[in-house]
Amino acid sequence: MSSLDVLFRPRAVAVIGASRDRRSVGGAILHNLLTFEFQGQVFPVNPKASVVHSLKCYPTVEAIPDPVDLAVIAVPRPHVLSAIESCGRKGVGAVVIITAGFKETGDAGLALERDVVRLVKQHGMRLVGPNCMGIINMDPAVRLQASFSANEPVPGTVAFSSQSGALGEAILALLRERGLGLSMFVSLGNKADVSGNDLLEYWEEDPQTHVILMYLESFGNPQRFLEICQRVSKKKPIIAVKSGRTAAGARAAASHTGSLAGADNAVESLFAQAGVIRATSIEELFVFASAFASQPIPAGTRVAIVTNSGGPAILATDACIELGLQIPTLSPATQDRIRLAVAPEASVTNPVDMIATAAAAQYEATMRAVAGDAGIDAIIAIFTSLEMIDGPEVAQGIVRGAAGCQKPVLVCFMGNVRSREAIDLMREAGLAVYTFPEDAARALAAMVRYGHWLARPAGRRRTFDDMDGGAIHGVIAAARAQGRRQLTLVEAQRVLEHGGIPVLPWREVRSRAEAVAAAADLGLPLVAKVSSSVIVHKSEVGGVRVGLATTAAVGTAFDEMLQAARARDPEATLVLQQQAAQGTEVILGATRDPKFGPLLMFGLGGIFVEVMKDVVFRVHPLSDTDAHEMVRAVKGFPLLDGVRGRPRTDLAALEAVLLRLDHLMALCPDIVELDVNPLFAAPAGSPTAAADARITLGPPEI
Ligand code: ADP
Ligand code: MG
Repeated sequence: MSSLDVLFRPRAVAVIGASRDRRSVGGAILHNLLTFEFQGQVFPVNPKASVVHSLKCYPTVEAIPDPVDLAVIAVPRPHVLSAIESCGRKGVGAVVIITAGFKETGDAGLALERDVVRLVKQHGMRLVGPNCMGIINMDPAVRLQASFSANEPVPGTVAFSSQSGALGEAILALLRERGLGLSMFVSLGNKADVSGNDLLEYWEEDPQTHVILMYLESFGNPQRFLEICQRVSKKKPIIAVKSGRTAAGARAAASHTGSLAGADNAVESLFAQAGVIRATSIEELFVFASAFASQPIPAGTRVAIVTNSGGPAILATDACIELGLQIPTLSPATQDRIRLAVAPEASVTNPVDMIATAAAAQYEATMRAVAGDAGIDAIIAIFTSLEMIDGPEVAQGIVRGAAGCQKPVLVCFMGNVRSREAIDLMREAGLAVYTFPEDAARALAAMVRYGHWLARPAGRRRTFDDMDGGAIHGVIAAARAQGRRQLTLVEAQRVLEHGGIPVLPWREVRSRAEAVAAAADLGLPLVAKVSSSVIVHKSEVGGVRVGLATTAAVGTAFDEMLQAARARDPEATLVLQQQAAQGTEVILGATRDPKFGPLLMFGLGGIFVEVMKDVVFRVHPLSDTDAHEMVRAVKGFPLLDGVRGRPRTDLAALEAVLLRLDHLMALCPDIVELDVNPLFAAPAGSPTAAADARITLGPPEI
């Protein structure tokens, strides 16, 4: 038995603060429990009444003669602590605190909330809230409506958690309006104890719940969220709306990675790695939920569109193509079958435009034919109301035509006054119904993405025993000892090398003679660069010279560059480095988000990376599957994949560097930002190696 069963499947519920006034929160909750026919016992608690709602009312929970599993607390803030204490003494298993005025109001509220949590833990109870709307469990064996929502939900398979109370109420209303049935609802409030993560784990095992919806404002523990979602989302789709911004973008950054790690990257990456389907708005949450709750996941991207009018079909086609879906020509056999049923003027390729005269029989026959076409994975049926055609009859035709179809069927009903009846009829028959074709396309595309997630290998973390943690910490400690947070080029390249990340052969030189000797060792042509903790963007100040082809050129470069650099930083030295013979410049980087931990970045590199912004982020820990996806997710991927006769890049080598960087970030909590830009990504057989590195440390610990 899960520890949350006491919350969602109580045998007896007390409402502390129950009132005769139904407009009060305590009154509304009691009313909802009773009218929704809670299957256990209900006890009103209120010292000022002896009867509420025709039930005997008790002055305290402790005065109730029977055991109580769950107490809903809706008393004014000053009475909350004593109510909890009394619950603890009574042996109550869980409390839902509706009362507001805690963490959300400032320091005093936060202190009170801490006291609440301490007391709840002390008595071994679980807590939802404070500052929430309550909880609902639609299981017919329970029928728990312990919220003050005025909406009467219909039972179904969608579980929903909301971090906002008011939005939760609105969403409950919309669920009903869209014909979506609920399994459980939780208004999380301040999440002082029970979190979204706890609910995900509970709903993972709940047989009633098939789809999980979440409205999130913050993550209590992003790493745990990732771990849990990766598992749960393989069993049940999780659709989430995340509002609010992370702190990552606010920080002034010295690295490219830091400045590119915009406000939303962490969330976007977390969702991608967790298999969470992100809805960009509440509206989209419903667009997605309607399809996921009623339709099977499509096996592929091939969509058939069946319509009685051209315009909406074109809109649907455009939207599908834009979202990566395909509208293939139907098989000749399917076309023949359709031709038998429709008007001679109809177009039977795809979209199938049955023209305005199409009625129930045409829809039925065409749907059936398309459903049987092995080259089709999903169907969008569009009906635009016309005076002479009966909407509800067409709806029945669509339902008959879709009967037994193993593919998702999404209907767009652009209707008139009689549409409501038609829409209800189709929803009851298990179809997803929309008004606009673009919505159907969006929902299908989300299902296709989820299908890919289901097929995606789970991924494993790699370990790198050859990383020399001691040597890396030595480099960092030396910089710290000088009171620096910025590593020099020399130090940063050493960190990479100790971490097993290849760097183009290089040498630090402090005199012209050393430079000439290094040139002989490294070979020409060479690149000269400044190594300094002050000069971070070297080429901006003439700190990089490429194409040094003679020993004399190396000598001259040494003299000129060192002199210029010393004017800015007396400690500056020079680095000579082999010039990369070939390869594409890519950037790899990492930044440490205070909330999400390390964020890893991959993109097409060079000095214009901030202009191009062709980068992808993922959060730590990276699996081999994550690394595999990252290098393929940039828009410029064809450049790496051998477009127009270019050699194909050794992608496995790039993935290995990403995984090493991820490991490095875990190994060195001191590092807050790291850029490898450029790394020369070369074809298999040639060395993939870094040509530049920049590392910033966090503030020293005091
Ligand atoms: P910074 O980023 O500080 O300006 P870099 O070391 O990245 O300095 O050099 C700037 C550019 O010079 C690189 O993006 C790359 O195009 C070129 N470059 C630097 N080092 C090499 C090298 N070893 N081989 C070839 N090109 C290089
Ligand atoms: Mg650079």
